[in-house]
Amino acid sequence: MPDRSHLSWPFFEPKHRELAHKLQRWCETQMPEASGHLDEDCRALVQALGSAGFLKLSVADGKHRPDVRSLAIARETLAYHSALADFAFAMQGLGSGAISLFGTVEQKREWLPRVASGEAIAAFAMTEPECGSDAANMQTSAMRDGNEWVIVGEKTLISNGGIADFYLTFARTGEGEGARGLSAFIVPAENVQIAERIEVVAPHPLARLKYDNARIPADSIIGEAGEGFRIGMETLNLFRVTVGAAALGFARRALDEALGFATSRRFGSGTLADNPVTQAKLADMALGVDASALLIYRAAWQQDVGGTDNRRAAAMAKLHATESAQRVIDASVQMHGGAGVTRGVKVEELYRDIRALRIYEGASEVQRQIIAKDLLKGAS
Ligand SMILES: Cc1cc2nc3c(=O)[nH]c(=O)nc-3n(C[C@H](O)[C@H](O)[C@H](O)COP(=O)(O)OP(=O)(O)OC[C@H]3O[C@@H](n4cnc5c(N)ncnc54)[C@H](O)[C@@H]3O)c2cc1C
Repeated sequence: MPDRSHLSWPFFEPKHRELAHKLQRWCETQMPEASGHLDEDCRALVQALGSAGFLKLSVADGKHRPDVRSLAIARETLAYHSALADFAFAMQGLGSGAISLFGTVEQKREWLPRVASGEAIAAFAMTEPECGSDAANMQTSAMRDGNEWVIVGEKTLISNGGIADFYLTFARTGEGEGARGLSAFIVPAENVQIAERIEVVAPHPLARLKYDNARIPADSIIGEAGEGFRIGMETLNLFRVTVGAAALGFARRALDEALGFATSRRFGSGTLADNPVTQAKLADMALGVDASALLIYRAAWQQDVGGTDNRRAAAMAKLHATESAQRVIDASVQMHGGAGVTRGVKVEELYRDIRALRIYEGASEVQRQIIAKDLLKGAS
C-alpha cells in the first residue's frame, strides 16, 4: 500500500481523497491483467477505466475544464501500479484536451462522451520527423478545398498510433509565419495511414503516421485557423503537471520496492536496511518523492483554483518530478543489486518506464527555458 499521507495536505478536497482510495482499490482488485499483447492490453485498459467511470476525469464536463488535482492523483495512483494503465488514462485526456478546452458544442458532443466511456481512443499528433521541441516549425500542411480540409504530411512518435480512433492533428494553414500559421484538427483514424509502428524501451502503442491528401470536413477544425499553436500549448500546459504526477507514482513505487528489499535482504547479522549507507540512500529517495509531490500538488492546486499564471510552477513540477524520479529509481535498482537489472523485476521495469517522461511533452531543457523566461520577465 503506497504512502498516502500527502492527501491530508491543504491542496485537496474530500473528493480528491475519495478518488485516491477508490482508484487504489480498483488497481488492486479490478485492473485488467496484461496478456502480453500490447494493443489489446491497451484497449482493455481504456475500456475498463471508462467503464469504471475514471476517464470522465480527463474530459470537460460541459461547464468545467478537467480538474488537474484529480488527474494528478489518478496518474500517480495508476503509475504506481502499471505504466501502461497510466498511459491509457493519460492519452485519453491529452488526445481530447483541445476539444475539451476549445471545441464547439457539436465537437464536444460527438467525441467527449465516447472518450470518457472508453469507446473512442484518442491521440495527440504534433511531433514530426524533422521537428519535435520546435513545434512552431512543423511542416504538415492543411489546405482548404471547398467544404473540406486536405492534410498532407507526416507525424512521428505518436502515442496510441495504430489503435486510436482519432488523431488530434496540428498542421500548417499559413495565416502567418511559424507559430502564427498553425491550426488544430480532429482527424478520424480512417483518414490516417500507419506508416510504421515504433518500439521504445517501455512498450506502448506508438507510430509514425502519414497523411496522404487526407480529406476531412471543414468543421473538423478546432477554434479558428491560425490558433493551432496556442491550442496545442494550452493543452500541453493543462496536462504538464500530470506527467510529473506519473513520475511521482513510479518514484513512490521504487522507494517502496527499495524499502521492501532492504528490510528483507540479509546483510551480515541483520539486513541491508541496518546499514547506514543504505539508510542515507533511503532518506534521499524519500526526500525526492516528497519534494516532487509538493511541487506537483502546488501547481495542480494553482491550476484548479485559478487566479495565478501557473506556467512556471507547472514546468518546475514536471522538471523536478521526472528528473528526481529517474534518480530515485536508479538508486532503487542499485540497492537491488543484480536483481535490479533482471527482466521481470519491478524496478527494472520502472527504470525503463521513467526515461521517456524527461523527453516528451516538453523535454527537461524546455521546462528550464519556461522557468527562466518567467523569472527574467520579472527581473527586467
Ligand atoms: C515515448 C514517447 C511518446 C511520445 N508521444 C507523443 C505523442 O503522443 N504526440 C506527439 O506529438 N509527440 C510525442 N512524442 C514526441 C515527443 O514530444 C518529442 O520526442 C519531444 O518533443 C522532443 O522532440 P524530438 O524527439 O524531435 O527531439 P528534439 O526536439 O530534436 O530535441 C532533442 C533534444 O534536444 C534538447 N532540447 C530540446 N529543446 C531544447 C531547448 N530549447 N534548449 C536546449 N536543449 C533542448 C533536449 O534534450 C531534447 O531531448 C513522444 C515521444 C516519446 C519518446
